Amino acid sequence: MNYRTTEDIGLITGAKNLTAEKIRSAVHKVFSKEAGPRLKAYYNTCVRCGLCSQACHYFLSMDNDPSFSPVGKVKQTVWELLDPGKRITPDFIVNAAQIAYTECNLCRRCSMYCPFGIDTAYMITLVRRLCHLLGVTPQYIQDTAHSHASTMNQMWIKEDEWIDSLQWQEDEARDELPMLRIPIEKNGAEIFYSVIGPEPKFRSQLIYQAAVIMNVAQVDWTMPATPGWDNSDMAMYVGDYELMGRMKKIHFETALRLKCKKIVMGECGHAFRSVYDTGSRWLGWKEPPVPIIHAVQFYWDLLNEGKIRVGKKFEQPVTFHDPCNIVRGMGLHEKARDLVRAFCRDFVEMHPNREHNYCCCAGGGVINCGPPHKKTRVLGNKIKADQLRATGVPVVIAPCHNCHGGLEDILHHYKVDMQIKFLGDIIYECIDKTSVE
Ligand code: SF4
Ligand code: SF4
Repeated sequence: MNYRTTEDIGLITGAKNLTAEKIRSAVHKVFSKEAGPRLKAYYNTCVRCGLCSQACHYFLSMDNDPSFSPVGKVKQTVWELLDPGKRITPDFIVNAAQIAYTECNLCRRCSMYCPFGIDTAYMITLVRRLCHLLGVTPQYIQDTAHSHASTMNQMWIKEDEWIDSLQWQEDEARDELPMLRIPIEKNGAEIFYSVIGPEPKFRSQLIYQAAVIMNVAQVDWTMPATPGWDNSDMAMYVGDYELMGRMKKIHFETALRLKCKKIVMGECGHAFRSVYDTGSRWLGWKEPPVPIIHAVQFYWDLLNEGKIRVGKKFEQPVTFHDPCNIVRGMGLHEKARDLVRAFCRDFVEMHPNREHNYCCCAGGGVINCGPPHKKTRVLGNKIKADQLRATGVPVVIAPCHNCHGGLEDILHHYKVDMQIKFLGDIIYECIDKTSVE
């Protein structure tokens, strides 16, 4: 079956502006100047054994098609770009862009199965960087990067709309907890709470729920009224590192302006990666200027410090999906399980799990490449549908926005009857709220 039949206007029109000189100069910039010894070590170490293939959900889901194996994707892109005798044409760049943006989630599962620990995801990001510099990027994800550039959030949300959303959620939540506040622009608060663009846009209940949890736990917290509230980062996935750096800086500068002691970010995986890994590295920071933790860690701390208590157990059997960026990337799997076990009556592991879990196939910006690439994304993760179905439970908990989007599409396509929840959904529903009622 030919899986590569997509047409993306961003790739097609971008390629029309390419010249041999533009391509040569961008390849030189990325592969000779920016990449350096790490790439050389990977190139010289890889023995083309193919052991990484069995790690990749695309390969496993696409009839073991070698062109979807990790090393196959690198061979069609990076190895060719490193070959001085190869003539790189605009068609080659379009094909490389499609592979790099839409056929690899940068999930890093394959690096655990490579005997040398070669990080294929890193090499694929170099291809994305090249395609960004050449202006050959998928239209949908490029639009989100444009939104970041002009509004400093991913969803074209204006400043007044952001504040309205917070006040609206505060108003709604006061029906439940009359003294509840969402403190905006509070100076010196313990916690600066950051969310990603989709929350005010179409998942505003998550802001409501976070506000309830903060108020029940009596956390000293705030959210900013200015740009810098959105921690998401499609610039990172497009390969526009200059823009990524601007966004990370404004985020931390906002927390510093408010003199907050710690940033807590909502249940998003890629946004966390953009601060603990890619963004900080690009900015040359050993550590971010304000400590930052993910919601899983935050909720775990609240529970273990006795600031929230379990009021009732979630009764339906649940399983847990380990998001790549917070588990393979940051090792939060046991803390997440502690929360699931504390709040849920019946927890069933899916297999494989923890750092061996299969990716949702949305991450790495792949879902953000939009409808032209949905078919590849859904067909490329049949293995995830099988994994979810095998648990036999009606609810999967996934503490990551991208995972929600990806799992929703897979459950729908493969007709698996399951609901997807955030940890915050479960905690909001099950915490003891009597202390503030
Ligand atoms: S999708 Fe994941 S496993 Fe597959 S090549 Fe990319 S990083 Fe490796
Ligand atoms: S990346 Fe590692 S596992 Fe994959 S082909 Fe190269 S050496 Fe083998």
